[in-house]
Amino acid sequence: MNTRLTVLAGPTAVGKGTISSYIRAHHPEIWFSVSATTRPRRPGEIDGVHYHFVSDDEFDGLIARDEMLEYAVVHGRHRYGTPAEPVRRRLTEGVPSLLEIDLQGARQVKAKMPDALFVFLAPPSWDELVCRLTGRGTESAEEQERRLTTARAELAAESEFDVTIVNDSVRTAAEELIQLMGISTLD
Ligand code: 5GP
Repeated sequence: MNTRLTVLAGPTAVGKGTISSYIRAHHPEIWFSVSATTRPRRPGEIDGVHYHFVSDDEFDGLIARDEMLEYAVVHGRHRYGTPAEPVRRRLTEGVPSLLEIDLQGARQVKAKMPDALFVFLAPPSWDELVCRLTGRGTESAEEQERRLTTARAELAAESEFDVTIVNDSVRTAAEELIQLMGISTLD
């Protein structure tokens, strides 16, 4: 089994979260990093499961103690970051590990861990991406516009990645990722 770290990134609303949910449900052998974030918790999100929800001061402390593998301000608002120690521990233990982060974070991980597998999740088309972002209904119009601006720049970064997966169908895209991670599927 390939126990390289895998980093999944892609433009906003491309469906990283949906792919992650599918993999969580079908491949419990894969460990997902739990990011720290300063953004407020959304309904249904559980602290320590979806994110570690922390204050700005706590986030500053994580950075000051050099405990973050990477961190970034995402969509010009809140900070998100990957605690380094759990990632290093899983890799030492040989547990296949996945980071679902934004592009800025993926670049930082690439600088520190160039041997990781960098996977770009692409939308089937720009129109489809706009549709997914506006259809989600969790962000204000202003926030959606901000995210689309970010997404346009993020799409141009595809060439920095080792491989691209097009998120046409959740199951197909997720299983493609699983195969890239070197994990065999039995069903
Ligand atoms: P959301 O607020 O919708 O959960 O996530 C917003 C964005 O933050 C997504 O694009 C997600 O990939 C990114 N993100 C989540 N965790 C991290 C992290 O630890 N580091 C970085 N750089 N981005 C993250």
